[in-house]
Amino acid sequence: MKKIAILGSTGSIGTQTLDVIRAHSDELEVVALAAGSNKERLKEQIREFHPELVSLSDEKKAQELKEELAGEAVEVVCGMDGLIEVAGIDSADVVVTAVVGMMGILPTMEAIRKGKDIALANKETLVTAGHLIIPMARESILPVDSEHSAIFQCLQGEPKKALDKILLTASGGPFRGKSAEFLETVTLEDALNHPNWSMGPKITIDSSTMVNKGLEVMEAKWLFGVDYSQIEVVIQPQSIIHSMVQYIDGAVIAQLGTPDMRVPIEYALFYPERRSLPGDRLDFSKLSQITFEKPDYKVFRGLSLAIEAGKTGGTMPTVFNAANERAVAKFLKGEIKYTDIVRS
Ligand code: NDP
Ligand code: MG
Repeated sequence: MKKIAILGSTGSIGTQTLDVIRAHSDELEVVALAAGSNKERLKEQIREFHPELVSLSDEKKAQELKEELAGEAVEVVCGMDGLIEVAGIDSADVVVTAVVGMMGILPTMEAIRKGKDIALANKETLVTAGHLIIPMARESILPVDSEHSAIFQCLQGEPKKALDKILLTASGGPFRGKSAEFLETVTLEDALNHPNWSMGPKITIDSSTMVNKGLEVMEAKWLFGVDYSQIEVVIQPQSIIHSMVQYIDGAVIAQLGTPDMRVPIEYALFYPERRSLPGDRLDFSKLSQITFEKPDYKVFRGLSLAIEAGKTGGTMPTVFNAANERAVAKFLKGEIKYTDIVRS
């Protein structure tokens, strides 16, 4: 049995990770779960998966949960200390990092310190602390982000020195092809409506501004040890090619599939093996086209600014990421306009 701890179990990646674990319950077992404040969903997960330790960051809700579960064989902890305790739990082999934002740094470092494999979805951690995390643990980090999982799959069995460049694909989000003037009119509802993927609110907004792709460029730099000049963003609107790798002889290897996050999650949990996964398959007789475009760096300034921040290095990626986290949180609360996210 491989034992799993999930940071952010009630979110989009967290619940899809539990779907994968449910489908392979003869091989995977949940030992610890952590969430923010969604007590009811966490409680359902406890009933189904019987973890030994759970954490809620909301202290009041954690106290309520403790009382509701009194006498049961599960320990309830809370706050950042609780999240770190879940990340470092002795019994886990793999820690899935699926919380949003820089708050993932400390628990991720704790999991690495304790020798866990990390199935990493929480890209903001690498963007802001890649210089600390990668020297500690490149070999034990398994990418969950679909593009990085695709790149990782395309790199299997190839010598690192043969890599020429990474072709990081992007859907372009709901406002692909739109003008800067159009973006002034965007509402929260429009921005939350991603054409291909159903994800948590923060990454959905980041995908619409293309800041997500900028964060992914930085994530790729850390995960694969390449220079920024070796990463090219390519728009692939149908989200069928999840990314590609070009080798020094000009050969390009791509990873394709339907847009389904359970594929990269399962790959990370079973690497280097593969397991079956029910779901839609690509039907090349029906697939009429796979198209490509260049990103519009003028309209999607968030993408250009993110790449610039990455190239500048030092504290700049952290400053960029912190500003974006704050701006997106304000936009989600209706406190600023869509175009203020990148402007502010
Ligand atoms: P969601 O918003 O759906 O889920 C976030 C999770 O984090 C929830 O379980 C939430 O709990 C929990 N959480 C929030 N605050 C805290 C806290 N203070 N302490 C502990 N847990 C907390 O996010 P996603 O699943 O969409 O994204 C997770 C990460 O994965 C992000 O970094 C994102 O960029 C990355 N990612 C996501 C993809 C996707 O398809 N969703 C694809 C690729 C990467 P609660 O429910 O209680 O609030
Ligand atoms: Mg991605």
